[in-house]
Amino acid sequence: MSNIQGKVVVTTGASSGLGEETARHLASRGAKVFLGARRTDRLAAVVADIERGGGQASARAVDVTKRAEVTAFIQAAVDRFGRIDVLVNNAGLMSLAPVAKTLVDEWDRMVDTNIKGVLYGIAAALPVFQRQNSGHFINISSVAGHKVSMGAAVYAGTKFAVRAISEGLRQEVGGSIRTTIISPGAVQSELPMGSSDPETAASVKEMYQQLAIPADSVARAIAFAIEQPADVDINEVLLRPTKQVL
Ligand code: NDP
Repeated sequence: MSNIQGKVVVTTGASSGLGEETARHLASRGAKVFLGARRTDRLAAVVADIERGGGQASARAVDVTKRAEVTAFIQAAVDRFGRIDVLVNNAGLMSLAPVAKTLVDEWDRMVDTNIKGVLYGIAAALPVFQRQNSGHFINISSVAGHKVSMGAAVYAGTKFAVRAISEGLRQEVGGSIRTTIISPGAVQSELPMGSSDPETAASVKEMYQQLAIPADSVARAIAFAIEQPADVDINEVLLRPTKQVL
């Protein structure tokens, strides 16, 4: 039996892109998946599809910028499936623009979603993992969590933060709880539509059209981390499209 079969995997940002594909992939391999995001119509469609294919899935609305909602979301997953084996902290957004444009509202949204959303997920799930004496955090960073490029200062800052938080968490809670950082390059999703600055949006769109690989490439990397034996913690996976240079 695979080490994914029967595991309860909770994923934030599962209404599109990497999160949706991860839920579909893991459900097809026998995981019980619990999906969260704000667009509940999209979540319901994914759940219905998974169930039609014979998988087990449930969903609940969550805005990861609201701590009480994240706490209730994690509790709902425990109530539904009795435990949580994996939390994929995936919800995020990328609003690229030069710092000098001072799109402060977008900085706030990225910090609140990409950093605080991950922290709220950790705060809600850690007590569950400690009670169970097992669990696995999978936090989605980025190539932008390893290198900064022009226009990506704030987004990269949030993704560097995800890596720092994940590594600190790993050192503190290791033993029976695993922590994995997934750092993808350009992957097909709705992410490149998140930039309001017209020049940056055009160049991001072009870059994604040329390079981006399907979201199931990330879903497979996540599955690889999950399927390892409990005494093996894949600490980080950095993956890019073969064509992506930087
Ligand atoms: P998408 O825009 O397709 O998906 C983002 C997901 O996050 C959606 O399901 C969205 O759902 C959810 N989300 C956004 N804000 C919130 C919120 N406040 N509360 C709850 N859910 C929220 O992009 P991706 O799939 O690409 O992004 C997923 C993660 O992957 C992000 O963290 C991103 O930074 C990271 N990443 C993506 C890369 C890429 O090239 N695609 C590369 C590297 C990292 P809804 O709007 O319904 O709430």
